[in-house]
Amino acid sequence: MWLVLRSGAEVEGVLARLEAMGMEGRVLPVGERRLVEVSPNGHLPEAFLRWEEVEKVLAPGSEMPLVRSWNGSFQVGTWDPLQEPLLIAGPCSVEEKAGLLTTARALKALGVHVLRGGAFKARTSPYAFQGLGEKALDWLLEAKADTGLPVCVEVLSERHLPLYQEVDILQIGARNMDHYWLLKEAAALHKPVLLKRNPQATIQEFLLAAEYLLLHGAPVVFLCERGIRTFERSLRYTLDVGAVPVLQAQTRLPVLVDPSHAAGRWPYVEPLALAGLAAGALGLLVEVHPDPTRAYSDAAQQLTIDQFAGLAERARSLYRVLPSRGLAEPLQG
Ligand code: PEP
Ligand code: MN
Repeated sequence: MWLVLRSGAEVEGVLARLEAMGMEGRVLPVGERRLVEVSPNGHLPEAFLRWEEVEKVLAPGSEMPLVRSWNGSFQVGTWDPLQEPLLIAGPCSVEEKAGLLTTARALKALGVHVLRGGAFKARTSPYAFQGLGEKALDWLLEAKADTGLPVCVEVLSERHLPLYQEVDILQIGARNMDHYWLLKEAAALHKPVLLKRNPQATIQEFLLAAEYLLLHGAPVVFLCERGIRTFERSLRYTLDVGAVPVLQAQTRLPVLVDPSHAAGRWPYVEPLALAGLAAGALGLLVEVHPDPTRAYSDAAQQLTIDQFAGLAERARSLYRVLPSRGLAEPLQG
């Protein structure tokens, strides 16, 4: 059983009371929010709920106390979740500086909140473009300085983490969702993390990966559904729209949808984006390129800036009429 303490509560007093009852508490080192693991020795959760330090008691065996009890706040650029969806957009790969700057400025003018771009790329073929690495990171940081947009960049290896000091949101890609040692080391940078769901992962496994990140220091994890592997081959992956409300029933961590990698082809990106928002996602991650036909990676799925402009407008209109935005919904269980 886990005792979730109120923020600012004295953990020592709780441990002393547990000891007096013949129990030993194990405290998780999780920043402001303290969790105490205790084997209840026959005591019912209600007994602990009466303690003023205790906000919540999680059932014995709860595998993801931090994901289940996360109730933090976070700010992403100028985004107001009550008004509009979070828009993260940019090229699959950073390819050249001038094109990146033009794209970043255009996206900023369209109200995008975060610029994304790949520096080190995870490609299925070892012969495919692998990304420009450190140079691409430098250009992303120049685009950040130029536009004021925070940047979200995928981390592929622990060895690269020292290069990510100025990156605002660390992205863990689908292929690395269950690379647990990378999760631990990335989380130790104490930055927000955007975690993609591995296409083979269950929702439970996805949330456990988020638990790793929260436990090891990430202040917030954006859970990003980007399509799972099913028997259907028409699109690149199958966007698991149902995962959005299911995740939101389990956690208050923000849930996003990436329609680009799910679709694999640009005409399907907007329908999937709108479906994700209709299901309750708080925002979108969309690949945008000034000339997708010339893109070094994921050419078929990237939107032009004009196509993205239309999508952003319709995404905002839809968001405004939705009853629930995944905020402050009651959690299950
Ligand atoms: C990406 O966002 O650039 C990417 C590679 O996505 P995923 O990890 O979801 O395949
Ligand atoms: Mn891509």
